[in-house]
Amino acid sequence: MKTNSTKDLIPASDYTPPEGDDPMAKSGYFEGDIVEDLIGRNAIRDRRSMWPDGVVPYTISPYFSTRDRRVIAAAFQEYERHTCIRFVSRTNEYDYVHISPGYGCSSLVGRNKGVQTVSLGDGCVYVGVVIHELMHAVGFWHEQSRADRDDYVEVQWNNIQEGMAYNFAKYTLKKIQHLDEPYDYESVMHYNEYAFARSQYQPTIRPLESGATIGQRRGFSQTDIRKINKLYSCETRTTKTTAAPVAQCADNDKNCGIWAGQGECKKNPEWMLVNCKMSCEQCGSLVSICRNQNTKCETWAKKGHCTHFASYMEEFCRKACQLC
Ligand SMILES: [Zn+2]
Repeated sequence: MKTNSTKDLIPASDYTPPEGDDPMAKSGYFEGDIVEDLIGRNAIRDRRSMWPDGVVPYTISPYFSTRDRRVIAAAFQEYERHTCIRFVSRTNEYDYVHISPGYGCSSLVGRNKGVQTVSLGDGCVYVGVVIHELMHAVGFWHEQSRADRDDYVEVQWNNIQEGMAYNFAKYTLKKIQHLDEPYDYESVMHYNEYAFARSQYQPTIRPLESGATIGQRRGFSQTDIRKINKLYSCETRTTKTTAAPVAQCADNDKNCGIWAGQGECKKNPEWMLVNCKMSCEQCGSLVSICRNQNTKCETWAKKGHCTHFASYMEEFCRKACQLC
């Protein structure tokens, strides 16, 4: 079973926040949505802040709604589709991301020690916003923090809310790297023109190129994708990543087997195919392994379910039904 475009499965309204309502510009954290430790890390220069092999173990709060889980799953799938970054359910990894409906939208930049929270509070659970926050966790600062940003945008310092000027800091190439990519107005990591504006009618950051727009939250730009793939050397890693699906393939919820049995893999693939990979047979080579995917398979087989519920049993109890 292959997933089709998630954009077909998720309502368009779940992709991007209502216009002019970028939740990241009002969360009150450093840089609006970056949680900064005060030790000045080199998130994208320091390889120790990267996720080994591009694998980001995660746990997710049980307090998200089904709709929110679908949106988060769709963001994971965008990473899978375009990059070699893989968000995988945590088993016992020391460093991992916990996705939680906290206050505002926020994330640390890059990998940190132990658990780090990606907060997706009210107004944050849109695919474009989730992609943005996860891109911080993967290792990216905002686009307007680039060392060369003054060649591309003009910061209107006099219209920035009091105490918020630090949100418009730019960093030297000692702290960040540009990965040989041009300044990208289209980046999902760029603030919009009115972020932290004192007057809603005056911009705080204005593109110098006429016609350029900034602050889109639809999803990755082409340059975003190239940058992630460069930072994680995805071109050379492709084989390795696809060759090791078994380690990444697991159920993320104890009820996966039950839901799979109720046909949820097909009814609700956006969430199920990401979080119930094992039960939904998304494990590559594992699919061909002769096994049962539910502990009750043998019991059911004895009750004659291989005949009465053939389609389910053929899919999930192949061994018990002696189909392999
Ligand atoms: Zn941000």
